[in-house]
Amino acid sequence: MKEIEKKISIIKSKIKSASLKSKRNEKEVMLLAVSKKKTAHEIYEAYNLGINNFGESFCQEAIEKINNLNKLNIKWHFIGKIQSNKAKDIAEYFDWVHTIDRSKIANKLSLYRPKNKKPLNVCIQINQGQEIHKGGLNQLDALDLINTIHNLPNLKLRGLMTIPPKIGSSKKYFSELRMLKKSIIRNGVSLDTLSMGMSSDFEEAIIEGSTIIRIGSSIFGKR
Ligand SMILES: *Cc1c(COP(=O)(O)O)cnc(C)c1O
Repeated sequence: MKEIEKKISIIKSKIKSASLKSKRNEKEVMLLAVSKKKTAHEIYEAYNLGINNFGESFCQEAIEKINNLNKLNIKWHFIGKIQSNKAKDIAEYFDWVHTIDRSKIANKLSLYRPKNKKPLNVCIQINQGQEIHKGGLNQLDALDLINTIHNLPNLKLRGLMTIPPKIGSSKKYFSELRMLKKSIIRNGVSLDTLSMGMSSDFEEAIIEGSTIIRIGSSIFGKR
């Protein structure tokens, strides 16, 4: 068995056991393979092992790979910081964007979304640790952004995303995001996605209700 095949099967069995432990259906958890800094060939290998969702953080790098692999049935997720001058490319090439944190970007993504494509699936990034080097906004500002996105025709608001602070356990942040989603739903907004959990903490994230785990190094090795 190839290294990557072993790695994917280990992740899948961990998804299964975390789902069982929390009485969830494992099919509710999407495995998003984070392929930033990895080659089109490596993506192709993972694709042949049954992975269909790939996450990229750098627009230029991603577009080359997307063009290269355009015959395959892949959903592409943008998970990096969004520069305003890249919004057009992101709107054209991707199926999902996880990292919206301001209305200017939301407006541009909707404006540039090609009319022949389905609305872009989007998540709002929450900066739970109030870390200045990270994207995302606080919970209160998120509510305003939700209203903005609701009025944009070419975006479909799916949920919330977080990258918790490195220090300490991620669990309380995952739990906080789950509660935030719940309270937003209670206010009449339909959300079905929690994008949370990476190589080091995805099992905890699943237990706290994650629906998309973003796994890079545990599939493709070190970057
Ligand atoms: C790189 C990255 C990941 C994957 O991280 P690993 O620790 O390699 O699994 C997940 N989410 C985001 C936003 C990333 O930038």
